[in-house]
Amino acid sequence: MAKKGRRKHIPQRTCVVCRRIFPKREVNRIVRSPEGEVHYDPTGKAPGRGAYLCNDIACWEKAVTGNFLDRALKTKLTPAQRAALQEELERRKALPGQTSRSG
Ligand SMILES: [Zn+2]
Repeated sequence: MAKKGRRKHIPQRTCVVCRRIFPKREVNRIVRSPEGEVHYDPTGKAPGRGAYLCNDIACWEKAVTGNFLDRALKTKLTPAQRAALQEELERRKALPGQTSRSG
């Protein structure tokens, strides 16, 4: 059976915290909307500038407490926006099967 060469382009995104590169569907998008709202974008399709976080909880914690998202989105996150991301982080921590990796 002859197979044609696969020309499947998989979009890749860099986690703004650990700088590792992941297939797009394995990262989480944080978006700054044209109105300046920064929020988690579960659809990955919200309009605006995006920053990407991998599924590593440690990266989320650093993103919530540090300035990674401010830098990536070229904005200043408000306390309310940070709080909303913290909530998403807590939700993820509570998920079963969450493995913590060190390294
Ligand atoms: Zn990461």
